[in-house]
Amino acid sequence: MNNSIALEVKNVCKTYLTKTGNVDALKNITLSIKQGEIFGLLGPNGAGKSTFINILAGVVVKTSGLVNVWGFDLDANPRHVRASLGIVPQEINVDAYFSPKELLEIQAGLYGVEKDKRITSEILKLVNLEDKADAYSRSLSGGMKRRLLVAKAMVHKPPILILDEPTAGVDVELRRKLLDSIKKLNDQGVTIIYTTHYLKEAQDICDRIAIINQGELIALNYTKELIKDNPDLEEVFLNLTKNG
Ligand code: ADP
Repeated sequence: MNNSIALEVKNVCKTYLTKTGNVDALKNITLSIKQGEIFGLLGPNGAGKSTFINILAGVVVKTSGLVNVWGFDLDANPRHVRASLGIVPQEINVDAYFSPKELLEIQAGLYGVEKDKRITSEILKLVNLEDKADAYSRSLSGGMKRRLLVAKAMVHKPPILILDEPTAGVDVELRRKLLDSIKKLNDQGVTIIYTTHYLKEAQDICDRIAIINQGELIALNYTKELIKDNPDLEEVFLNLTKNG
C-alpha cells in the first residue's frame, strides 16, 4: 500500500440475507482515502453509507473484497484496524451522570491508554468543551454532546476519525462549532471520513467526495472538480434522494 494512503477498499461487496430476499447494500466498492484529507461519503438514505462504516468498525462482516486501514488488512489484523479508527456514532449515547472529563478517562481506560499517556484536557480543548470538563454530561446541549462523542472517539489518538452523519438534529450554530472542531482535528493531521446525505455539508467541509447510490459508487472526485463537472449536481443529487 502506498504510504500516503490512509484507507483502501477494493471490490467490497455486502449482501444482507433477509427472510424477504437478499439486499445488495454495497456493490463492488473500490476507493482509497489519502492521509490528511477530509473525505466525504455522500449518499441518500439507504445508499449503503452505514454499511460501509460498520464494515470498517467491525460491526458488519463484508461479503467479499479487501479492506486496508492504515496499512493493516481488516481480515488479518482486525485489532490494529480498530485501533487506527475513531468512530463517532450517529446516536447520542453519553452517560448523563459522568462529567466529560470522567467519560474520557473511562473511555481511555477501555482502550488501554495508560494514565500518563492520556490527553483528556487536550481533547476537551480541541472540541471546545474545556470549560465543561467537570459539568454533568446531562447538562450539556445537544451540540456539546455531539462534540463530546467526537472527543470520546479520539482518546486512543487514532489517525483516522469517522463521523457518521454527525449533524443530524443539530442547529446551524452548533453545526458550525462541530465542523470547526472537525477542521481543527484535521489541521492536527487527523484523516477524516465524513458521511452525510447533505450535499451542501459535504461541499463545505470535504476535500474529496464520493457519492454512493443503491450500493454503487457513482462519483468520486475533488469537491471543486465534482461541482465544476456537474453544475446540476444539486438537482441530480436531490433526485437520487427522492428515488433512493
Ligand atoms: P445508509 O446508511 O446510506 O442510509 P445503509 O447502509 O443503512 O444505508 O443501508 C443500505 C441498504 O442495506 C438499505 O437497503 C438497507 O435497508 C439495507 N440494510 C442495512 N442494514 C441491514 C440489515 N442489518 N439487514 C438487512 N438489510 C439491511
